[in-house]
Amino acid sequence: MKFNVVSLFPEFFASPLDVSFVGKARRDGLVEVALLDPRDHATGVHRQVDDAPYGGGAGMVMMVEPLAKTLEPLAHTHRVYLTPAGRPLDQATLDRFSNMEEVTLLCGRYEGVDERVVEHFIDEEVSLGDYVLLGGEVAALAVIEGVTRLLPGAVGNPASTEHESFRHRRLEEPQYTRPAEFRGWAVPDVLLSGDHARIEAWREEQREQRTKDRRPDLIED
Ligand code: SAM
Repeated sequence: MKFNVVSLFPEFFASPLDVSFVGKARRDGLVEVALLDPRDHATGVHRQVDDAPYGGGAGMVMMVEPLAKTLEPLAHTHRVYLTPAGRPLDQATLDRFSNMEEVTLLCGRYEGVDERVVEHFIDEEVSLGDYVLLGGEVAALAVIEGVTRLLPGAVGNPASTEHESFRHRRLEEPQYTRPAEFRGWAVPDVLLSGDHARIEAWREEQREQRTKDRRPDLIED
């Protein structure tokens, strides 16, 4: 699978794409990430990529031409603009992207991009959540990381992606590891019982309760 990331700050991605599972998946050839800087298509002495908004107002808007030149050759890919105005990112979206061959992620900066870019060169708009970041880079990394861990071979134990929060519209149950007691705080007895049926029943109950308490919307939807 290949990602093309369109960003004015390609250097933003160096370390996050190098470490842990994503770094390994790239080295193993499971996922490829190409970083594309729209400034490479900017013209004029100042290689300008942003300009003041028509109609006035604060901030700058990313210009259509450098983005058109970057995104037009990627028409064969699924082109996603990361924006607070998009549909909130969820596990189903990551699942869908993980079945695609090539996904392009456009990261905005400043006040965002000229709307003609979205109209003519974007297939889908995705938001990281109901808050405003400085740029789309963190959102692009969230997509890359969330998709990479779904690719066969990227995560050691495939069961770990199967039994996790959101997969079945339930939050995951609490997890514990050694020691069985720390500062008097004991791990629930049932987990030490060796009785797998009881353990699974306890986990199921915890998933239901947590989801009911914290994210009832997942149950109701
Ligand atoms: N003026 C825009 C608005 O009110 O919707 C916000 C622009 S924001 C400061 C600059 C860029 O950061 C956006 O173009 C987008 O690419 C990215 N961004 C900010 N918040 C985001 C979010 N919640 N999800 C995805 N991208 C986001």
